[in-house]
Amino acid sequence: MTVRRVAILGSTGSIGTTALRVLSRQREHFRVSALTAFNNAALLREQEAQFHPAFVGLVNNGATDHGTWQCGRDCLVAAATRDDVDIVINAVVGAAGLDATLAALERGKRVALANKETLVMAGHLVHAACANGGGELVPIDSEHSAILQCVTGRPGIEVRRVILTASGGPFRRWQPEQMERASLADALQHPTWRMGRKITVDSATLANKALEVIEAHYLFGLAYDQIEVVVHPQSVIHSFVEFVDGSVLAQLGVPSMELPVLYALTHPQRVPDTGVPPFDPLEVSPLTFERVRVADFPALALGISAGRAGGAAPAVYNASNEEAVSLFLEGRIGFADIPRAIASSLQTLATQDGESRDAIIAADAAARRHVRDLFRC
Ligand code: NAD
Ligand code: MG
Repeated sequence: MTVRRVAILGSTGSIGTTALRVLSRQREHFRVSALTAFNNAALLREQEAQFHPAFVGLVNNGATDHGTWQCGRDCLVAAATRDDVDIVINAVVGAAGLDATLAALERGKRVALANKETLVMAGHLVHAACANGGGELVPIDSEHSAILQCVTGRPGIEVRRVILTASGGPFRRWQPEQMERASLADALQHPTWRMGRKITVDSATLANKALEVIEAHYLFGLAYDQIEVVVHPQSVIHSFVEFVDGSVLAQLGVPSMELPVLYALTHPQRVPDTGVPPFDPLEVSPLTFERVRVADFPALALGISAGRAGGAAPAVYNASNEEAVSLFLEGRIGFADIPRAIASSLQTLATQDGESRDAIIAADAAARRHVRDLFRC
């Protein structure tokens, strides 16, 4: 494998720092060309000193001068479209990552995508960008990495069904009355994964799994009837693929994002790595499965029906969830208000136009306004 040059958007976050840990062991195969972050300048400077990227971008620099760094929102697209970048790891959280994903694909890059919100809100535009520019989309999300690892080398028509696994989150066993009173600290207690705050809350509402169903629809060209979800509290089996002959493949691994991050960089090849301890079946035993309590986690069904509806509905779902989660993180609304906010915006805005990028951005903005108005925030 020739040395491939990598940009990381969101290098200071959970996936971004995981990616740098992987890359620090893989200097033989990869070099870091560009790093960007939102506002953690101190950590970004440490990363710059360690990896010597040619480009550093900071979205929100306050009033500080950072010398050679490119500051402001445009740094994401600038990093993603550089000539000295082959692979863009998009590890930004939320809709803010959309333009960089589209621009990188238009320029023929591989996008290693953690930023699932991008694909959910504008899946058809992401596909068009791949087709126009010859770019390639490879998932970092562990479930989708699992599916990709199971189907690589097989034609799509051989897949009958996929089953995404879900840890169930911190409220797997909570009753709706308890969830009504759940605190921020409760929601941030994820049982198996350490992640950024937004996705951790999404895992508690199961909105994350709805985003992942839509993500699977776009990544693998599957109809919604071919995508199911099962709760698997140990997060060891990352997903199942059932083929047309009835045979089922699954991908397993200890719950570490280092594995899917590395695979997104090397796919369809593999390289030796020592990031995670050797797999021991006895240590992860027993592996168990449960039905999802669909009625108690309304964000899941709302998201899947938004996916089925298409148009602007997935963008409205995503934006109202993002806005509600940020209000919940600020302590301004309750946990159970998150699915309420999503339901209300979908009811009002789901049939908006979702054709173009601008229409999607308008639907996104309308959904955010709707949620703020709903709670008078
Ligand atoms: P995080 O909050 O830890 O990190 C987010 C990163 O994006 C930070 O570097 C931050 O500086 C940057 N950022 C935030 N807002 C930005 C903006 N408006 N513009 C530019 N940069 C911005 O989040 P995370 O947990 O690393 O998640 C990142 C993405 O990966 C999310 O889409 C999440 O759903 C997905 N993901 C994460 C995990 C995980 O284990 N953390 C697993 C699967 C998928
Ligand atoms: Mg996932």
